[in-house]
Amino acid sequence: MAMDYEELIVAATQARENAYAPYSQFRTGAAVLSSDGSVHVGALVENLVFGAAMCAERVALFSAVSAGADRPEVIALVAPETAGERTFPCGSCLQVAIELGGPEMKIVAASADSPGFDISTVEELAPGIPRRKGLLR
Ligand code: ZN
Repeated sequence: MAMDYEELIVAATQARENAYAPYSQFRTGAAVLSSDGSVHVGALVENLVFGAAMCAERVALFSAVSAGADRPEVIALVAPETAGERTFPCGSCLQVAIELGGPEMKIVAASADSPGFDISTVEELAPGIPRRKGLLR
């Protein structure tokens, strides 16, 4: 792999600096590595209307699609810990990830508060999540 996980975490950490999180202060950033080697970042963007907010992971995935990138292979999420545990993407983000990247897409979860990261796949984090065959980009 041309880009290692650490580099992707650095990109996500930089994106996290741009998070707009005045309500939760739960600043998150994400970076997607596509199969063509391109990297696309996203930051959490909150809104007074809660449902209008968008997770960093989906911002990054949508950015990759918008740029015409090939299939997303890895997404790194950098977030504060949740109740002392590493934070993983929410169900909606995993739903988007499996559609665009497939069940084997890697999820790299890094804490903004401590070193190290966990690697898993969409399938591992969300077994049985709805999917359609033949739609992988
Ligand atoms: Zn999410």
